[in-house]
Amino acid sequence: MAANAPVWVIEDNCKACDLCVSVCPAGVLAMVPDPHRVLGSMVKVLYPESCIGCNDCELECPDFAIYVADKKEYKFAKLTEEAKQRAEAIKKNHFRALSA
Ligand code: SF4
Ligand code: SF4
Repeated sequence: MAANAPVWVIEDNCKACDLCVSVCPAGVLAMVPDPHRVLGSMVKVLYPESCIGCNDCELECPDFAIYVADKKEYKFAKLTEEAKQRAEAIKKNHFRALSA
């Protein structure tokens, strides 16, 4: 587990299936290109400060590749309108990271 992080990915287990990105209500996660991966992309925790600790990503992942911190050990954010809108935008962008 990662110290002082709300959510983290075990990249060697991740199949880049997008499921965790599709269920995240706060736009925390997105796929980014990674030429070293067979599927050409990898999920990244791009907005950890927005994570509300809902656990949906961890529950949905079929490969045990993403983990959420314990509520007793990490102070998660509240869901904001900005985070909700970012989540929608990432979904519309086919789960890829939004360009800045
Ligand atoms: S715990 Fe919830 S808010 Fe945090 S990354 Fe996972 S799905 Fe998103
Ligand atoms: S659901 Fe799991 S395997 Fe799929 S992209 Fe997310 S972390 Fe990777």
